[in-house]
Amino acid sequence: MLFAEVIVDISVKSLDRPFQYRVPEALEKDAVVGAQVLIPFGKGDRRMKGFIIGLSGKPVYDVNRTKSILQVVKQGVVAESHLLSLAYWIKENYGATMNDAIRAVLPVKREIREKVDRRIVPLADRDMLEQNRAVFEQKHNTARVRVLDALLAQDSLQNGLEYSSTLKSLKVSAGVISDLEKKGLIQVQSNRLYRNPLHGSTASGERKKLNREQQAIVDSFRRDLEQGIRREYLIHGVTGSGKTEVYMNLIELVLQQGKQAIVLIPEIALTFQTVSRFYDRFGDRVSVMHSRLSAGERYDQFQRAKNGGLQIMIGPRSALFTPFENLGLIVIDEEHETSYQSESPPKYHAREVALQRGKMTGASVVMGSATPSIEAYYRCQTGQYTLFTMTKRAGDAVLPEVEIVDMREEIQAKNYSVFSRTLREKIQDRLKKRQQSLLFINRRGYAGFVSCRKCGEAISCESCSVSMKPHQVRGKVSLLKCHYCGAEKPMPSVCPKCGSRYIGTFGLGTQQVENLICQEFPEARVLRMDADTTAGKEGHSRILKRFADGEADILVGTQMIVKGHDFPRVTLVGVLAADLSLNTGSYRSAERTYQLLAQAAGRAGRASLPGDVVFQTYQPEHYSITAAAAQDYQSFYRQEIAVRQILHYPPISNILEIMVFSGMQEKARELSGQLQKEVSGWEGIQVLGPTDASILKMRDVYRRVLYIKSADYQLLCQVKNHCEAFLREQENYRDCRLTFDFNA
Ligand code: ADP
Ligand code: ZN
Ligand code: ZN
Repeated sequence: MLFAEVIVDISVKSLDRPFQYRVPEALEKDAVVGAQVLIPFGKGDRRMKGFIIGLSGKPVYDVNRTKSILQVVKQGVVAESHLLSLAYWIKENYGATMNDAIRAVLPVKREIREKVDRRIVPLADRDMLEQNRAVFEQKHNTARVRVLDALLAQDSLQNGLEYSSTLKSLKVSAGVISDLEKKGLIQVQSNRLYRNPLHGSTASGERKKLNREQQAIVDSFRRDLEQGIRREYLIHGVTGSGKTEVYMNLIELVLQQGKQAIVLIPEIALTFQTVSRFYDRFGDRVSVMHSRLSAGERYDQFQRAKNGGLQIMIGPRSALFTPFENLGLIVIDEEHETSYQSESPPKYHAREVALQRGKMTGASVVMGSATPSIEAYYRCQTGQYTLFTMTKRAGDAVLPEVEIVDMREEIQAKNYSVFSRTLREKIQDRLKKRQQSLLFINRRGYAGFVSCRKCGEAISCESCSVSMKPHQVRGKVSLLKCHYCGAEKPMPSVCPKCGSRYIGTFGLGTQQVENLICQEFPEARVLRMDADTTAGKEGHSRILKRFADGEADILVGTQMIVKGHDFPRVTLVGVLAADLSLNTGSYRSAERTYQLLAQAAGRAGRASLPGDVVFQTYQPEHYSITAAAAQDYQSFYRQEIAVRQILHYPPISNILEIMVFSGMQEKARELSGQLQKEVSGWEGIQVLGPTDASILKMRDVYRRVLYIKSADYQLLCQVKNHCEAFLREQENYRDCRLTFDFNA
C-alpha cells in the first residue's frame, strides 16, 4: 500500500504541515512527488488541491481511517523533487508557509490551452496548381480559385498560408479547404507553436575574440569543469569589461557537457538588451521567463525546458526555478541588485537560493558585478567564492572622467538651478555635438512632497504614513499619489490645515527635471523613464529602443536608466542628487550609494567616444561618493567593511528584521513587546527594539519592528520559529501577522 504526504494548497499557518493520504492503486503511476492532487479535506471532506511532497509505504495512523487521494490533477506540472527540497529549504530559512514556498518554485501550475500554428501548405507544384486553378475557374468555383491564387502569389510556394487569417481574408469556409485537401492539392499542417517571446529575431551566432582577462576566466572555469569541481565564482569586472561575453562562453562549455544553464538578471528593465545578445549567440536554445509574460507563454517556456527543447533560461528571480533536468550552471548577473530580494512571502534572496540550488544539483554558480555586494566580496576574502577580476574595458573604451560638484558652492555662487554650472555647460556641449546624455534622479513623480510653508503641514496618505508625491497631469501639477498604496487625490490649492495659500512642492522628481530641461535647453529632445512611463508589457524596451535609435538627446530617469544598458552614443552622465540614497537610514545606504553612482558612471563612454560624468552632491567628502568617482571598489570595500565590523552588521554578523502587523496600533505594540520578552534572554543574540517601523502605517495596517543580531544564522532561524509558534498559541493576537527578513 502506498501513502502520500500532501501539503494542502492554502496559505494558512495551521494547515502548513503534510497530511497523509492513501494512494489508490489506480493512481499509483501518476502520484509522484511534486504532483498536484485532489483530496477530501477536513470534517466535511471538502475537495481541495494539494501537492505530494513525499511517498512512503508506512501509514502514520490507522489505515482504515486514512482518507484517499481522489484524483491526480491531469497535467498539473510535476515539480522535480529537488525543486520541492528547495521549497523546503526556503521555508526553513526564510519563514514562509510550505505552500507559499511551493508556489514560488512552481510558478506555473495550470496547463494553458496550447496555441497551435496551422498552415495551408501546397502538396503540388506550381504547374499542377495552375492547371487545377484553370479547371476551378471554368466551373466558377471562385472560393477555390481564391485560395490557389493566394498560394501562387507567395514568393516561395512552401511558405504556405496561415490558416485562420487566410479563411478570414479570403472569405472561404473550412469546407473549401478540406475539399482541396481531399483532392491532394494542399495540406493543413498543425505545428505546436511555442509562444516565443523573442518573436522574429534570428541568431547570427557571432562570437568575439576574448581578451586576455576574459580568456583567463574561461580557461580556469573549463579546468574546474573538466575535473568535475563545482565552485562558486565572483567576477568583479568594471562596467563594460565584457562579463556578458564571458557568461556566454561559460554557458557554451556547460552546454557541451549536455547540461543546461540559468541566467538571472535583476529585473525586467534588462531583458530587452541582455536577452537579444544571448539570442544572437544561442538562437532558439534560449528563452525568457518573467512576470509580464502571459500565463500561456510562461507555461510553454517551462514545458520546453522540461522536454529538453531549450537549454538556457534568462530572467529575473522566478527563472531560478526553471525545471531543467541536468542543470550545470547558474549565472547571476549584477549580483548586488536589491531586486534579487523578494518583497513578498516567501521573502527569499535569489542569490542565496541559487547557491542552494547549485549545491543540491551540482551546478556551478557564477556571479558578476562591477560593484559587488559587500557580502559577496567578503565571501571571496573568506575563500567561499573564487574571485576573478576584470580591470579593463573590452574593446577600446576607456573609463570616464568623473567630476564631483559641491552643490553648496553653487548656492554660494547664486546658482539656484538644479543644474550646476559644470553640468549645464556639458549638456550644452553634447547637444551641440549631437551626442546623448543620461540624467539620473532617484525619485519618480514631479517632486518629493507637498507641504505648507506657513504651518509646515506635509500632505500624507491617509492609509500609509508617508508623504504623497505630486505628479503632473497634462502639463499641470494637479495630482497627488501614494507610491505605497496607489491612492490618489487632487493637489490642494490651500493648506488643508491652516488654509494658507503658500503650499508648494519640495525636492526634485523626474517629471520636474524633464520640465526644467525643456525650459533650459529648449532645443533638446527629452525622454523620461520611470515607473510611470514604463507600465505595460513592453514599456521598458520601448523607451530604451527609442533612445538607442537616437530619437532623443537626453534620457532622464530613475535608477532604471543606470542599470546595465549599453548606449554607445551616451557621452555624458549627470547624477543630479547623489545623496538621495545616502540618508535612508538603512545599514546598506552607503553600499547602495556607491553602487548607484558607480553604475551610473559606467554608462558614459561605452564605445569609441570618451565619456564625462558629473556627480552633484551636498556631501562631497563621503567615502561612497569619492570612491565611486574614482571607480575604486577596493577602497570603498575597506571602509565599508570596517563600519560593518564595528556595528556588527552583515556580512560580519546576521540581522533578522521581525515586522509585526496589526490593524490596531495597540496590538502591534503589545505583541512586539511580548516577542522582545520571549527572546531577549537567549544566549548569542542581541535584540534591538521594538520600535515603530519607518513607515508606521501602510494601507491602514500598523507596523512595529524588532531587529535581532547574531553571528549564528541558524540561531536566527530558531528565533523565527519561536516567534511563529508563540503567535500561533496566542488567542488575542489573531489579527496580527509577522514577517521575517534575513539580512535584507
Ligand atoms: P559587461 O557585461 O561587463 O558590462 P559587456 O559584456 O556588456 O560588459 O561588454 C561591453 C561591450 O564590449 C559590449 O559592447 C561587448 O559587445 C563588447 N565586448 C565584450 N567583449 C569583447 C571582446 N572580447 N572584444 C571586443 N568587444 C567586446
Ligand atoms: Zn498650513
Ligand atoms: Zn498610501
